[in-house]
Amino acid sequence: MKIAILGAGVSGLSLARFLIEGGIAKSDLHLFEAASKIGGLCGSKTVDGFTYDETGGHILYSKDQAAMRWMIDCAGGEGAFEKRERQTKIRFGDRWVHYPFENGLGDLPPQANFDCLKGYVHAWHRRQVERSPAPTEFGAWVRWRFGDGIAHHFMDPYNQKVWKREMHELSSDWVAGRVPDAPIEDVLKSSVGIRTEGYTHQSLFYYPQKGGFQAITDGIGSTLLDRVRLKTPVREVKKRGDGFQVNGEDFDCVVSTLALTDMPKLVVGMPQPVAKAMETLEYNSIVCLLVALDEPKQPPLSWIYLPHEEQGPTNRVTYMSNYATANAPAGKSSFLCEVTFRGGSAAPGAELEGQVLAGLERAGLLRRDQVLFTDRTVSRHAYVVFDHAYGSRREAALGWLVEQGIVPLGRFGRFEYDNSDQCVIKARATAERLLATARRGGGPTGR
Ligand SMILES: Cc1cc2nc3c(=O)[nH]c(=O)nc-3n(C[C@H](O)[C@H](O)[C@H](O)COP(=O)(O)OP(=O)(O)OC[C@H]3O[C@@H](n4cnc5c(N)ncnc54)[C@H](O)[C@@H]3O)c2cc1C
Repeated sequence: MKIAILGAGVSGLSLARFLIEGGIAKSDLHLFEAASKIGGLCGSKTVDGFTYDETGGHILYSKDQAAMRWMIDCAGGEGAFEKRERQTKIRFGDRWVHYPFENGLGDLPPQANFDCLKGYVHAWHRRQVERSPAPTEFGAWVRWRFGDGIAHHFMDPYNQKVWKREMHELSSDWVAGRVPDAPIEDVLKSSVGIRTEGYTHQSLFYYPQKGGFQAITDGIGSTLLDRVRLKTPVREVKKRGDGFQVNGEDFDCVVSTLALTDMPKLVVGMPQPVAKAMETLEYNSIVCLLVALDEPKQPPLSWIYLPHEEQGPTNRVTYMSNYATANAPAGKSSFLCEVTFRGGSAAPGAELEGQVLAGLERAGLLRRDQVLFTDRTVSRHAYVVFDHAYGSRREAALGWLVEQGIVPLGRFGRFEYDNSDQCVIKARATAERLLATARRGGGPTGR
């Protein structure tokens, strides 16, 4: 079975590895990759001795121990990784607020603490006693779940910064099951200054000692390099008999990790309503700005959230040099600033760097004279946006691909909010299905 895998990010690479582990001949696999390196969104970059993750600071953790172990083993085993404790805070004026926010109310100024507690108790009462149902609109959901105070002081400004949309334009589907409910006792305790932890998943994470997060995809891809065609963008996918043609070459099966929004330009014969559903799926892009600092140390933090406008356009800062010592030269440190913008619009211009640094200075995170240089990377597809039409558009898109026999996989290949471990888990499941089909001697199936 000759298989074309479109895209050599973590999804495409993992799928190829699992297929080979399951008995598919390596020579039957052909990975098409537009970029000049493998890794996709897991890519990292080193500039003048400073290493950073190109699409925001990445950490490795998973509830699926087997998947995480597999990723670690592919990248040289535990000895090749730093194991770090997650230290996350929210910057609030000149204060550090414990994360998650509802477990940090006691760190707030008294009036904000009161607003948040009052709102939280009201919301809790409505949920528990009045049994009010969860709203489907995100802004209303935030108030239902956290109350007016937390919405006003943190959730609204933070989410508007990240999503670049009004809260009512977003649906609450994506948060259901993602945000654990803090016990009311914990919130009350935290408000009066008794420390409570909040959720503890990701409390320990792995990060490669060298090469940034990309070391993981480099490891996964290390046995596949002769199967990956770099700088080879997919330009056309066409159904032909029981199989497909990719850029004019015949394949029995096609697995695509390319963004659904790009597929109408590539797949021949797509019906107009399906093309429209794909093209109108909403996403956000991101600019990641490395700030290289002439400072030996930073506070012992993993990453921080910057919810407020006066903190500039950055929504999250990752302390890259705290992830791995090798991420910065000796005696220097670094952090990485994430700024989102709406998918389909132009990336912010050169003025962004000044705005970011001014915001960080106002937030008390750096002084200008410490900055050695900045370096930016723009990633077009960063976040799936869960607007109200997301579900129906995605269903139309995936339904049609599957009907054609094209197997959709990956964060933007399926338009799902997946981290790299989820990509690996789904690649493993897809490989199992393809292997079962191959054993039965059947043709390609997207299901
Ligand atoms: C800000 C941010 C922070 C994140 N943090 C974490 C984290 O802490 N931990 C974690 O595990 N995950 C994290 N993730 C998620 C993780 O980056 C993704 O889940 C994962 O990298 C997706 O991999 P993929 O292979 O599915 O897609 P991609 O990496 O997008 O791979 C698709 C590949 O297809 C290629 N391609 C595109 N068009 C074409 C074409 N026409 N022809 C050929 N090739 C093409 C691309 O170059 C790319 O290599 C984060 C993501 C973001 C945006």
